[in-house]
Amino acid sequence: MDLDLEELYQTVVLDHSRKPRNFGPLADATVTVSGDNPTCGDEIALSLRLDSATDRLEAVGFTGSGCSICMASTSLMTTKIKGKTRAEATALLADFQGMITGQTPAAEAPKTLGDLRLLNGVAKFPQRIKCATLGWHALKGALAESAPVNFSLDNHDGSKS
Ligand code: ZN
Repeated sequence: MDLDLEELYQTVVLDHSRKPRNFGPLADATVTVSGDNPTCGDEIALSLRLDSATDRLEAVGFTGSGCSICMASTSLMTTKIKGKTRAEATALLADFQGMITGQTPAAEAPKTLGDLRLLNGVAKFPQRIKCATLGWHALKGALAESAPVNFSLDNHDGSKS
């Protein structure tokens, strides 16, 4: 990371960790998933309000506490997934996972990730990857758990893949 990028990283991460966006309990949430990262002490609960007609994440909120990487990553995530369809949020999740685990080279991280790309340096620190992905694991669980809410028939492929 060159100096300018490092400064930008610091600025964005500190800003989001001090003033997390979409922070607070969410009224009328359709699903809430809690997760923790004991090795660091991060604990968050992510709530989504999914509009079953449009399949969009109408509202997103999270509560909890964690280190600056955890808070910044979760805060940035909420700003990116709000208003997105479930499919779009799932795609973003895959893009972020690819980048943060180093499977996708930093230079090739999709532009749709926006400021989340500033977190690509975390890929070098395995312990911190958990901090950066805690909120995303909650998202994964929430997107999966909210599926049955919209289905009364077993038209979802329940086979293990
Ligand atoms: Zn942490």
